[in-house]
Amino acid sequence: MKKILFILIFFYIHSFADELPDLGSTSDNFINKVHEKKIRHQILSQAYSSKLVERDPELIFYINKLGARLLKGVPELNSKNTTFFTIKDPTINAFAMLGSIIGIHTGLLYAANSESELASVLAHEIAHLSQKHLPRIIEAQSKDKFKTSIAMVFALLMTRSNAQIANAAMQTATASAVQNTLDFTREHEKEADREGLVILNKAGFDERGAVNFFKTLDKANQFSVGAAPYFLRTHPVTLDRISDIEDRLKDFPYRQVSDNPNFKFIKAKMKAFSGEPSDMINIFTENISNKSYGSESAENFALSYAYLRNNQMKKAREILDSIIHLKKISPMIVELEANILKEDGKFIAAQMLYEKALFKNPNYNAYIYGLSEIYIHMNKFEKAVNLIEKALEVYPSDSNLYKLLAEVYSKQQAFHLEYKNLGEYFYFSFDLKESVNQMSLAINASDANFYDKSKAEQRMKEIKAEIVMYESIK
Ligand SMILES: [Zn+2]
Repeated sequence: MKKILFILIFFYIHSFADELPDLGSTSDNFINKVHEKKIRHQILSQAYSSKLVERDPELIFYINKLGARLLKGVPELNSKNTTFFTIKDPTINAFAMLGSIIGIHTGLLYAANSESELASVLAHEIAHLSQKHLPRIIEAQSKDKFKTSIAMVFALLMTRSNAQIANAAMQTATASAVQNTLDFTREHEKEADREGLVILNKAGFDERGAVNFFKTLDKANQFSVGAAPYFLRTHPVTLDRISDIEDRLKDFPYRQVSDNPNFKFIKAKMKAFSGEPSDMINIFTENISNKSYGSESAENFALSYAYLRNNQMKKAREILDSIIHLKKISPMIVELEANILKEDGKFIAAQMLYEKALFKNPNYNAYIYGLSEIYIHMNKFEKAVNLIEKALEVYPSDSNLYKLLAEVYSKQQAFHLEYKNLGEYFYFSFDLKESVNQMSLAINASDANFYDKSKAEQRMKEIKAEIVMYESIK
């Protein structure tokens, strides 16, 4: 009936595997909480410094919300310490990593036909984490293989930007050895499928999203040219797996679940930024005239962004006006409107729009960043600081907020505060060494008083201690 399908747990081979720290353990317990903590830190620091990781605040907000909704039904995982990030990559893919991290490709977003389909993949990955499949595999390895496995764990993001390196890496013996060490077994896959259904159910998604997504994948596979990129490790979705899921679906009565409207707008926004603006304008215009789209309003939304990127403000505004009534159902429409106003130099109007929108939706990050930037641009520093400080109460580890604060203080030539906030920015971007550098500049800034200095010194000590802690984990 179906071809073999491919899915989900692909690992990248990191071309710099040789430079990775020695995490080999002499104890019998190959992988423990402390190792995971270090691995988590390393992966996140790579992710934060990678150009391939999508930084769009609305995408991050959306994925985090979706993830949090799914994680509610998973008491084994601490939702605060489980991190999702999205990689700019058109291949359909998602993966779970040690350290409670889940990566998602933009290709997966594009392919998913409904929010439940996307949620089914995330639920499956979350299940790999909650069932501790990776630690279990690693613990089953022999000790010398363990080191390679850890290299694998770090091997997530970077090579995609350089296909040649990736290709070369794949030809080495290490790479192929690595490939074989972290395979999930068929049993793991089945277990993740079953658990994934339970997670989907608890979160109120359509459990049939799982099977529907397999069908989506099958279609994508039929149309894909050639094989999946060779440095990706694929795990086949077998008929056996599908029938196992279908069997279990009998336990779940059918229910109609409608998508969060942001689902289609997020997909549209990512697409609008995925190629040259003029090309994207042509593609969306053609889709609209041929009625070849999943959602007309989402296609128009994408087209408006493409015009915005191409500096055609009048056109961008015109298209936006055709969907402006959707403001009520999605904050993303307001964000687009504000961006058009900003690009058009209408800062006061953008400010007013944001202020009103924040009143209704006070924790929407994109608004907070957007309004802060406008305040900074218009030298309304006090307003900017108030807004950012208030946001930090809700998002104390949001590195962007510290960067914005540093910008305000830089404009005011308040050097101590500028460096201190840059220090926090780097700290929450997982770059501890640079964080220490900035803290040291803050301590030595000409405008730092005794109290400022001793506080910054204390903070620097804490960060240094954390560096030592990570270095001591072998
Ligand atoms: Zn899997």
